[in-house]
Amino acid sequence: MSVSTIGVVEESAAGEHRVALSPDGVLRLRAAGCDVLVEAGAGRSAWFPDPAYVEAGARVVSKKELYGHADLVVCVQPPADVDRALLRPGQVLVGLLQPLIDPQLATSLAVAKVTAISLDGLPRTVSRAQSMDALSSQANVAGYKAALVAADTYGSYLPMFMTAAGTTRPALVLVIGAGVAGLQAIGTARRLGALVTGYDVRDAARADVLSTGATFLDLGLGVSAAGEGGYARELTAQERQAQQAALNAAISKFDIVITTAQVPGRRPPVLVSSTALTAMRSGSVVVDLAASKLGGNVEGSTAGATEVTANGVTVIGATNLPSAVPKASSTAYSRNICALLAHLIHDGELAVDTADEITAGVLITHGGEVVHPAVRALLADGGGAPESTTHTSIEKGQGG
Ligand code: NAD
Repeated sequence: MSVSTIGVVEESAAGEHRVALSPDGVLRLRAAGCDVLVEAGAGRSAWFPDPAYVEAGARVVSKKELYGHADLVVCVQPPADVDRALLRPGQVLVGLLQPLIDPQLATSLAVAKVTAISLDGLPRTVSRAQSMDALSSQANVAGYKAALVAADTYGSYLPMFMTAAGTTRPALVLVIGAGVAGLQAIGTARRLGALVTGYDVRDAARADVLSTGATFLDLGLGVSAAGEGGYARELTAQERQAQQAALNAAISKFDIVITTAQVPGRRPPVLVSSTALTAMRSGSVVVDLAASKLGGNVEGSTAGATEVTANGVTVIGATNLPSAVPKASSTAYSRNICALLAHLIHDGELAVDTADEITAGVLITHGGEVVHPAVRALLADGGGAPESTTHTSIEKGQGG
């Protein structure tokens, strides 16, 4: 399958400021022998103006021309229905397509004979896939921004300040969930001068938290919930109850709580209960990075909304924080895309070798069929996103 012309579309999702390929990415693809078409204005919100793409060797074109001439289209989020209708049989679509959230998208791309490749299917523990790991690169940005959002909302300083007008104590920050986003949130809050504590249910996370210089919150539960592939498993009802009681007692002493806890293929666990919120001091801030339409880590948090409880705690249901740091997140995503394309394209031809675990993980549709096992299973099961599936990855979904 010849894929010598790559197209970069303008993102169509509401509030999405990222772009799939930066001008630096254009340079890389040009050096690999590809032609690059960029939809006019595609990089504007990420601070990559059209002339920067032209300078890197791309051609800036209309949407119609792009879909008409590109062999392979790169995006961040799935294109809107109206744009997807422009895709042609034999074209390749590459992005964070989240087919476990919307398996019907996979069906419609298969019917349209489009080959769909989704970066959220990448096997993350394969070391040669690390440079392609868009879930990690975007989680890293989300964790960084979560700490900034919390600091910006908090009505006092994060560091200790000693001035002629008095001394302020440093803010006490708790980060729950010490995966990629959580560790970055811990690092960022520490760099801002806060006293940071991290918590996770996986034993391995303790060393990760301590290596950042933060304190680890030991709830004394004696439970390690390490699951497959480095992810957490779901806690049993008894473990959950014990964890909740211990967290309720611990949370009230913190000024800022950032939650990032996910369990593959499951609704995110509620870790900050309304009891814990009620016990927090007025002026405290809680950022729920797991907030989605299926719930989050904070009882009552609403995805995309900021609410203040009766006792003065600001609860932020953070969604798509990478889009709020669009230049950095697009730059990292663009590198992930280039690394994946370098793996998949040889001499201008797309290699569809499902014996390769990276290809098998990311290939969703090909030859008019949905080929990804987890997506096929979901479709066979009724075709809708399972109630319990969070905004999670297909790579995670396989383990769940
Ligand atoms: P994630 O987004 O699935 O979850 C975030 C964190 O929440 C995890 O650390 C998880 O243990 C924690 N969590 C889940 N339930 C919890 C609960 N009830 N209470 C407290 N914490 C809870 O995780 P992620 O950031 O995608 O990373 C998960 C794992 O994958 C980590 O071990 C990470 O190091 C690993 N990883 C490895 C690679 C690699 O090897 N290349 C790349 C990325 C991630």
